[in-house]
Amino acid sequence: MDFKKHVRVIEDFPQEGIHFKDITTILKNGPVYREVIESMRQMVKHLDVDLIAGPEARGFVVGAPLAYAMGAGFLPIRKSGKLPGETIEASYSLEYGKDKLAMHKDAIQPGQKVLIADDLLATGGTIATSIDLVKQLGGEVVGAAFMIELTYLNGKEKLNGIENFSLMKY
Ligand code: IMP
Repeated sequence: MDFKKHVRVIEDFPQEGIHFKDITTILKNGPVYREVIESMRQMVKHLDVDLIAGPEARGFVVGAPLAYAMGAGFLPIRKSGKLPGETIEASYSLEYGKDKLAMHKDAIQPGQKVLIADDLLATGGTIATSIDLVKQLGGEVVGAAFMIELTYLNGKEKLNGIENFSLMKY
């Protein structure tokens, strides 16, 4: 399937010069959404995965169905102040801003194998912070999976050699 034709590109959002890849056009199309998740599952099915961690908010719509399909658990990585239990936090910068991400302190048992999933790899700040949080909690990061990679932003360099997979590249 040509997945790219289902991604809507919106110019100058959220600020001038950004070619925003809008995946809501995938999400609202049942057969395409299912095929995207199934294709991502195929990319990572060789990995031994206990948990999938996805950063708020689009990491949830990729990570949770992928976790369900793989029979793995799902861990939400949330913006600071959203999780109800005790958390650890780390700061990060986006392609267009700054923020803090958090995870529950008891989210991971030491040594559990964690795949991190998100909709899109841009500068790599979000995924690097997610990797940092998972490692701090004693998890082993076995891979990072994305619907989309913006190759010209070189986000892969921030993955420090962690195996990574993306369905679409721009
Ligand atoms: P990074 O931290 O620079 O790699 O940015 C990746 C994060 O920003 C992901 O969590 C994305 O959801 C979001 N993001 C950045 N650019 C886009 C885009 O063009 N479309 C959708 N999400 C984006």
